[in-house]
Amino acid sequence: MRIVLVGPPGAGKGTQAHLLAKTLSIPHISTGDLFRANISQGTPLGLEAKAYMDAGKLVPDEITIGMAKDRMTQPDAAKGFLLDGFPRNLGQAKALDEILADAGIALDGVLDLEVPEEEVVKRIAGRRLCRNNGSHVFHVDYNPPAQDGVCDECGGELYQRTDDTEEAVRVRLEEYHSKTEPIIGYYADQGLLVTIPALGRVSEVTERAIEALRR
Ligand code: AMP
Repeated sequence: MRIVLVGPPGAGKGTQAHLLAKTLSIPHISTGDLFRANISQGTPLGLEAKAYMDAGKLVPDEITIGMAKDRMTQPDAAKGFLLDGFPRNLGQAKALDEILADAGIALDGVLDLEVPEEEVVKRIAGRRLCRNNGSHVFHVDYNPPAQDGVCDECGGELYQRTDDTEEAVRVRLEEYHSKTEPIIGYYADQGLLVTIPALGRVSEVTERAIEALRR
């Protein structure tokens, strides 16, 4: 299966992508995680992306598309993948179409996680990520780890993202509405869009997503 996950920041894309990818046995490809890995390794790509990310802005397409393509063409992604956070604008969606067409493959579905804006802000403020694995995501109230500051899955240290500040979140929401939302219509026109409400327990949302994708 080849799936794209869309939704505003704080919709739970990372959490759901991690669980869905496990259930469907396909790699979870998150451009945000790839950028964060590059930043923590101090690569030139990471250095270039960091200022945009910290400000809540989208990283330019020239950097993002090449990085996403490299990851998507790794051997483990040959049988399918779940894209989390890519594409994030129409230019990237069209670039993805070309990458897929060149490989003679196509998307099976685009899953849109719908969450009210006030919920998004609450979710982001309490979000904590694992330093070892960005897919291990917790929330101080909604999904707290058994031990404060420690990842349940691997024992890694939990931290708050530098772009989870109020100001950066405001910019990220603006970027989402102006640049990312148009891809929802783009995929709806192609008959690929599946929208589900992303409220409720994490496991309920995962079940809803699986059911919607199988339809
Ligand atoms: P995420 O972890 O998906 O919330 O992404 C965190 C940040 O990484 C975003 O706010 C952007 O600055 C950057 N980023 C991730 N994916 C993309 C993308 N497809 N295009 C541009 N910037 C991206």
